[in-house]
Amino acid sequence: MLKMKAACECCNVPLSLTGQAFICSFENTFCADCAEQFRQVCPNCQGDLVLRPSRRSSPTQVAKSGFKAKLEKILP
Ligand SMILES: [Zn+2]
Ligand SMILES: [Zn+2]
Repeated sequence: MLKMKAACECCNVPLSLTGQAFICSFENTFCADCAEQFRQVCPNCQGDLVLRPSRRSSPTQVAKSGFKAKLEKILP
């Protein structure tokens, strides 16, 4: 599961789970302002910074209502 870091690694500004944030493949996390400053390139690994998917429910909620749970209901 993706680690949802709560603050920008550069300027330490708080990042909400549903707000805009940018991550690289190593899960370095930056706010939109810093990502723009770095021109969408991670300063730690030189990888691409991409928009982080937002998370709107907790992992336990997802486990209960997830696709797999539905599948188990349908199958005998
Ligand atoms: Zn920042
Ligand atoms: Zn990186």
